[in-house]
Amino acid sequence: MVLSCCAVGCKNRAGRGSVSFYCFPANQELREKWIAAVKRDGWQPTPYTRLCSDHFAKGHRDSNPLSPNFVPSIFHHTPTSLCGQYHGTEFCNPNWCGWPRPFPGVVDMFGGSVGLLEYRSAQLASRGFASLALAFFGYEDLPKSLEEFNITYFEEAVEFLLKHEKVCLLL
Ligand SMILES: [Zn+2]
Repeated sequence: MVLSCCAVGCKNRAGRGSVSFYCFPANQELREKWIAAVKRDGWQPTPYTRLCSDHFAKGHRDSNPLSPNFVPSIFHHTPTSLCGQYHGTEFCNPNWCGWPRPFPGVVDMFGGSVGLLEYRSAQLASRGFASLALAFFGYEDLPKSLEEFNITYFEEAVEFLLKHEKVCLLL
């Protein structure tokens, strides 16, 4: 049997790269937290269900209840196709208790890096921000270089975040 990850949108399979696969915890309380984090409607894990290490803030789980890695927090809960015309991925941690909800929003762009880079947004989400990783050149049908810009592209991304039910203000 090939081990695969139960998170929606995650394509990790055992044997590819350095990803670990975890069983759901036996402890009922912690198990419920993991199930809530995975956010699949009316869904329960089986003894064969696995969650991969990519969904933990530091790339591995932790048995310390005070650690941000105790409960998985990094998911693609909103598919890119729902985000409008721009190319981006939204990250938000449903378990974060440090801020009052909704979350402060961030549009996350790298200065001169090509394509869609998601790791910083995932880290921001694990610390209580709703972060939109936004690609703005060198990705799919976007301009190939930094020289061409269409300002409405950025406006649309900002508007999406401002209107989002999980976002309270924009940083
Ligand atoms: Zn996964």
